[in-house]
Amino acid sequence: MDTRFFVAWIEEAARLVRLQREHLTELDAAIGDADHGTNLDRGFTEVRQAFADQPPDTPAQALLSAGATLIRRVGGASGPLYGSVFRQMGRSLDDPVTLAGFAVAFETGVVAVERLGKTAPGDKTMVDALAPASRELARAVRDGVGAREAFERAARAAEQGARATIPLRARKGRASYLGERSIGHEDPGAASSALIVAALAAVA
Ligand code: ADP
Ligand code: MG
Repeated sequence: MDTRFFVAWIEEAARLVRLQREHLTELDAAIGDADHGTNLDRGFTEVRQAFADQPPDTPAQALLSAGATLIRRVGGASGPLYGSVFRQMGRSLDDPVTLAGFAVAFETGVVAVERLGKTAPGDKTMVDALAPASRELARAVRDGVGAREAFERAARAAEQGARATIPLRARKGRASYLGERSIGHEDPGAASSALIVAALAAVA
């Protein structure tokens, strides 16, 4: 996986976020403050601009640049959280990037979100999509499958993880203020995480 792969991943994620912007915002309207789609779309648009201004030379540079921009530009909880996933991944990647190396770096990104967000799977957050995706990637590496199948499995796991947040009660972020009333709605951050993992499968 070369620099082009990582730039293509993030650009595809940006495209999917743009397409699903209203949907993400509607999910956030139900249990938050109706800004998740616009927040992320603004952030990813800035990331694309940063890539155009200064094309990354390595996979790590692409991820570090994306992470820094998301932290700086996305208002709301999700910016620093997504920013740390990309930044942490960027710090952990070895060049050249193998699928096994990618899987390890992705896992360190998920751990960074858990630490920063003081959260774990089951709290009804983005981690409920990211953690199953990470687990599937690790399993795919053990099974010795190719990158394409590995990312497809991860994308399915993320999508299922996002849907599985519907019956959960939110324990973190704005949605947690709703208590019981957060039950019955998909978590917006889990939904956007599923898009970001789907983007991986699309470019693989
Ligand atoms: P805000 O809640 O500040 O308006 P966004 O609407 O952009 O920010 O993002 C909300 C999403 O952020 C939630 O759906 C959830 O997935 C994620 N989130 C919020 N708090 C946390 C946390 N402590 N740990 C992990 N993810 C979180
Ligand atoms: Mg919000």
